[in-house]
Amino acid sequence: MIDTILSSIKNGIFTRDFEPLFENKKSIVPGFVDTHAHMAEAGYFMRFLSLSHIKSKKDLLEYISSHLQRGSLNIFVDYDESVFEDEKDITKKDLDKISKDTPILLRRVCGHIAVLNTKGIEYFKDKARENTIDVEKGIAYEYLPLNLYDILSPSVSEIEEGIQKAQRIYLKKGITGILDFAKDINVFKAYTNLDLQGTLKIKVKLAFYEKAFEYLKENGLYTNWQKKRVGIEGIKLFLDGSVGGRTASFYKPYRDAASKGPFYSKTSLQNKIKKYEKAGFKVLVHAIGTRAIDTVLAALPEVSDFHHRIEHFEFPSKTALYLSKKKSAYISMQPNFVARWWKMYKDALYDEEFLLMHPYRTMMERGIVFAFGSDSMPEGPMYGLQGALKHPFKEERLSLKEAIRYYTEEGAGLLNLKTGKMARGFYGDFVVIGDDGDIDAVFVEGEKVYGR
Ligand SMILES: [Zn+2]
Repeated sequence: MIDTILSSIKNGIFTRDFEPLFENKKSIVPGFVDTHAHMAEAGYFMRFLSLSHIKSKKDLLEYISSHLQRGSLNIFVDYDESVFEDEKDITKKDLDKISKDTPILLRRVCGHIAVLNTKGIEYFKDKARENTIDVEKGIAYEYLPLNLYDILSPSVSEIEEGIQKAQRIYLKKGITGILDFAKDINVFKAYTNLDLQGTLKIKVKLAFYEKAFEYLKENGLYTNWQKKRVGIEGIKLFLDGSVGGRTASFYKPYRDAASKGPFYSKTSLQNKIKKYEKAGFKVLVHAIGTRAIDTVLAALPEVSDFHHRIEHFEFPSKTALYLSKKKSAYISMQPNFVARWWKMYKDALYDEEFLLMHPYRTMMERGIVFAFGSDSMPEGPMYGLQGALKHPFKEERLSLKEAIRYYTEEGAGLLNLKTGKMARGFYGDFVVIGDDGDIDAVFVEGEKVYGR
């Protein structure tokens, strides 16, 4: 079968259609499309040590003190205290015990929270917005962790390096298409450079943070601009934070904290959407909590040239499901969040809102347009799919075949990408899965880029 497929790929492009093949011993599926990734940024942060493997506060503190480089700024990324077996709160005091003269910053896996020691607070004080660091506890909310990349401001060549690092990992996991969030215009330059050099294998659509808008306009870029393997998707807006950080916006309070309103009112979001539409851009709005999701859907225009996107859509109300179809919104969801955090969600939220979590089957049956992505937490569809296959609410589970469709073909449709489907005119990208559920091989444009 693999040979048949390969012989139908000419100049890297499928010349005929193939259905995904599901057999006990081997499955052959299209390349995965990750509709919400942070590949360039993740690549850049691969320069820093990751704490994602650490399962207790004790181990975390030991790891930091044994890997500390005295004198210069030390950044560690991706800690997740929700899985810690001992204490869950990490504060300035803990890090001050490790060092008083070396600045330390730990960024939480959600990207919305960071912990600093006293020296770290000093280092970042002028770079962070006022009142976004709790100086007593040494915890920075939203601004500093979310903008760390901007504050450190990597060069185009540093970003290219990062993309190459990350691309190797993404390809191994069978990902051949992504929507990547570009913090700034250097990311666009890095991707187009790599594509010109012929080293970009993954097909990329870029969504930009708002500050890139002026540049995009000046350079005649717009939604659906496309050149070889790089295209432009739109502008990213944030309406709330994360459940882990207690900054996702709900109507009800959390079990252990108050819930805040969304970052923008309906009216100011509407004005932003109008502004970007007028300039030729689709918007992609981050909305996790029920209240934030309702706000986006209320703000979206009834009729639009664009299928505006909602990112995450974790706890949608019944009204939100209705309106998302009515307003033809496109939705990107992360089943890995369910796999990884559903218990934390259950502890954080009252049932009324917890029970709304990721209603995949309901959405499929209603014909709501959505596709899967990872938010790079971590990347890897084979892991992410578990959240759809083993959803804690049985009635919302998808079959393997359905779940893979939402990680391939539906993603290709959402992004208008020429990968993620084994069809004539699409790039010859496909993935072979072994009987143990792990990836056997990955082919890109007819070339084997990974095999075990
Ligand atoms: Zn994201």
